[in-house]
Amino acid sequence: MDILDYMVRYGHEQVVYCSDPSCGLRAVIAVHDTTLGPSLGGTRMWPFPSEEAATIDVLRLSRAMTYKAAAAGLHLGGGKAVIMADPAKDKTEALFRSFGRFVDSLDGRYITTEDVGTTVRDMEWISTETEHVVGVPVSQGGSGDPSPATGFGVYQAMRACAQEVFGADSLQGKTVALQGFGKVASYLAGHLREAGASLVACDVSPRAAERAKKEFGARIVSPDEICDVECDIFAPCALGGVLNDSTIPRIKAPITCGGANNQLLEDRHAEALKERGILWAPDYVANAGGLINLSFEPTGYDEDAAHEKVSEIRQTMERIIAIAKAEGITTARAADRLVEQRLAAVRGIRRLAVE
Ligand code: NAD
Repeated sequence: MDILDYMVRYGHEQVVYCSDPSCGLRAVIAVHDTTLGPSLGGTRMWPFPSEEAATIDVLRLSRAMTYKAAAAGLHLGGGKAVIMADPAKDKTEALFRSFGRFVDSLDGRYITTEDVGTTVRDMEWISTETEHVVGVPVSQGGSGDPSPATGFGVYQAMRACAQEVFGADSLQGKTVALQGFGKVASYLAGHLREAGASLVACDVSPRAAERAKKEFGARIVSPDEICDVECDIFAPCALGGVLNDSTIPRIKAPITCGGANNQLLEDRHAEALKERGILWAPDYVANAGGLINLSFEPTGYDEDAAHEKVSEIRQTMERIIAIAKAEGITTARAADRLVEQRLAAVRGIRRLAVE
């Protein structure tokens, strides 16, 4: 893989390789784009099979963060980090403190947080070496678990979709099928129940499915059946790649909107959804609530202001639907266009020379 060619093609600014043999640290930090502000994105800890696999992941994920932050109207860019190690056995204070020093060396160009394989405790270790970390515990002035904000944001995106498809933003009497009933889905379910919606849910974990039934009155189906459920909204809240050649023809709902990341198996599946007349809420728009919540930490976390900003996901989704309709393009393309226009506008601002 030619990394510099890849960076040129996809607009990455900087890639930093970090090594500290004293504690076994092997990490890569990617800063994709800081046009709108410092780059923010989680640190993923994973036993990547190769340096190339880790690099591809961090390049891809950092670019996705630029789009997510820009669409959410945040003054942040996209970044990401990967630590090549096994979260089950390689975690030490020294490793995370060492990583924290590398984050600090970027002087705020990259702000880190939790991701797959890292936890709040790891962020505490990192925070002993750098202030450029968010997602620290509430007791330390942090914003805590991002899932409530993510669930609320998905609910706002659903309301925008409902307005378009059903002519009203109320979900009263609508049936929502939730694929996966973990943290995001359960907070989303709370809003849906309050709005008077009926729920159908599935989870590979019987305990999670039981919770959906007991606490939220959901009808439970098997994970194999969830795509076939007669419903008004299909909500992927588990895995990526769930919108593909085999699932799209089975979806009965006119709206697909959920919290899962990377829902489309391939970009062309956005077109397949459009052809079937299904309105899709682009994942990085619908599930940005957690990121929006986190973005309030560096300036002093304010729960009410964060909640207000998360609710703007609804207006963002409305704009995306309007662009898609006006230009006859998919909502996926419309969301990308919204982001690219914002980046181009800010990049183009006149530079003023001063003495
Ligand atoms: P979670 O682990 O709490 O929940 C996921 C649930 O999906 C689990 O209960 C799991 O058992 C279930 N599941 C896994 N495979 C399944 C399958 N094939 N069929 C049905 N159920 C299955 O995770 P979460 O934090 O709720 O995140 C859910 C999704 O949302 C992920 O894709 C995550 O990347 C994305 N996301 C989460 C946040 C957040 O704030 N937590 C923010 C943005 C995006």
